[in-house]
Amino acid sequence: MRGNRSIDTRPEVALRSQLHRSGLRFRKDYLLRTADRRARVDVAFPRLKLAVFVDGCFWHACPQHGRQPRSNESYWARKLQRNVERDRQVDVALERAGWRVLRLWEHVPAEEAARVVLQTVARDYALLSAVTAG
Ligand SMILES: [Zn+2]
Repeated sequence: MRGNRSIDTRPEVALRSQLHRSGLRFRKDYLLRTADRRARVDVAFPRLKLAVFVDGCFWHACPQHGRQPRSNESYWARKLQRNVERDRQVDVALERAGWRVLRLWEHVPAEEAARVVLQTVARDYALLSAVTAG
């Protein structure tokens, strides 16, 4: 494991293929620039301004599986803490830019993750068409 995140990690791929099978159109690894941040969104719905991230349990310190390595404890504690803080900063920056952020842990089964995304997208489309109609 080298970078903080790798493109096309398995849980992301599984989620995308589920979403694709459901007929959803989305952008993957979507580079989003806000006034103060750049973020690469795992699954993005630009029209809805919905950003979905699949967060790795280790790198994003999942409360269930995010274990800190035994060696170099303070290094890892700081590093993982920084990751978590950066996630929050990204959330705030995206929300400030009018996006909504949906974060799913990689341990969530793809079907379940896809269901959450589908529900959110369905609700957003309903809101969007209500706004457009009004
Ligand atoms: Zn986890």
